[in-house]
Amino acid sequence: MKLAKRLSRLPPYLFVEINQRIAELRARGEDVISFAIGDPDLPTPSRIIEDMCRAAHDPANHRYPETAGLPELRQAIAEWYGRRFGVTLDPDKEVLPLIGSKEGIGHMALCFIEPGDLALVPDPGYPPFSMGTILAGGEPHFVPLKEENGFLPDFQAIPNKVANKAKLMWLNYPNNPTGAIADLDFFERAVYFARKHDLAICHDAPYTEVAFDGYRPPSFMQTAGARKIGVEFHSLSKTFNMTGWRIGMVVGNAGMVEALFQVKSNLDSGIPQAIQHAAIDALRGSQEHIAEHNAIFQRRRDKLMKVLDEIGLEVRMPKATFYVWAKVPQGYTSMDFTKKLLDEAGIAVTPGSGYGKEGEGFIRLSLTISDGRLEQGIDRLSSWHRRGK
Ligand SMILES: *Cc1c(COP(=O)(O)O)cnc(C)c1O
Repeated sequence: MKLAKRLSRLPPYLFVEINQRIAELRARGEDVISFAIGDPDLPTPSRIIEDMCRAAHDPANHRYPETAGLPELRQAIAEWYGRRFGVTLDPDKEVLPLIGSKEGIGHMALCFIEPGDLALVPDPGYPPFSMGTILAGGEPHFVPLKEENGFLPDFQAIPNKVANKAKLMWLNYPNNPTGAIADLDFFERAVYFARKHDLAICHDAPYTEVAFDGYRPPSFMQTAGARKIGVEFHSLSKTFNMTGWRIGMVVGNAGMVEALFQVKSNLDSGIPQAIQHAAIDALRGSQEHIAEHNAIFQRRRDKLMKVLDEIGLEVRMPKATFYVWAKVPQGYTSMDFTKKLLDEAGIAVTPGSGYGKEGEGFIRLSLTISDGRLEQGIDRLSSWHRRGK
């Protein structure tokens, strides 16, 4: 057997070692509290599940779906963008449902990247941005997200030669893993930079609805000129607690949407239709659960921030996403500190170095943990800290 070289170009999965350690501890009967899960712990609202069940009984939904999705779903996505962001989208040309946004993110690379091509990828960042590029035969050029720039890329610092050669630029705000946010002024600068260097922009925005303190994150599509050069990926995963159902969307530039459709129509047969019906209901129905869930995450955030401060970790209060990005104490790497927390306190976190070179020196803690476990985790962290004194 001769496997393709592209597989060997994929870097090793950095969380393997730590996941093994967690499994070992649990096998020994130790109770590990995990702040490492990036998946809402709250269930999908029941009205959405009820609609899905009704649709599942309809034989019309037992057949192959279309790659383009139900016209009614594309319409519901366009309407939701209109209501939420004031953005008008053509449901037939500027909207494409996806089998979760990760699927579309990975496949978008095939629309742009040929062997040797460059994509600008944020570091730290969501791994599919770089993995899609590598699988398409291209090279990610990592753009550092520095704390002093609010974890936004510094476009001026990207060498001209690199920017001119690159075909695609990935952005993601509100950001995983840093929790950073971007405003419309930043998106305008991104559009300006992209037009100057003839780049396409892919903005990944699954966290626009997970925000705190009354903050409402904008959509990249609100920016003048955005749809001339870019698309936005969105998802029902985080907004409606639907990670397991696999449904998301891409909206924006009609040519890019068409290109992704072309790739996908040759590889997949769309999203199971009962799930598409659930998504229609989710997008069109009451959005009340969003504020309720954000209140829960915000309360958890405030509790966690308090103990992190107490134990001396430097953190910025995230305004959005359910991630807290904390600096590890001096003298530790991300991995050393992650292991120390695991071995000494029974607390699992994600080492920042798993998200790229620039993630070194940080850990990510997720707020997707039940209130009871969070309280236990907080108690453990403070008694671990007191013991260490
Ligand atoms: C959770 C997440 C997604 C959404 O993935 P789905 O495939 O839609 O579930 C996309 N990008 C980032 C950065 C995420 O954290």
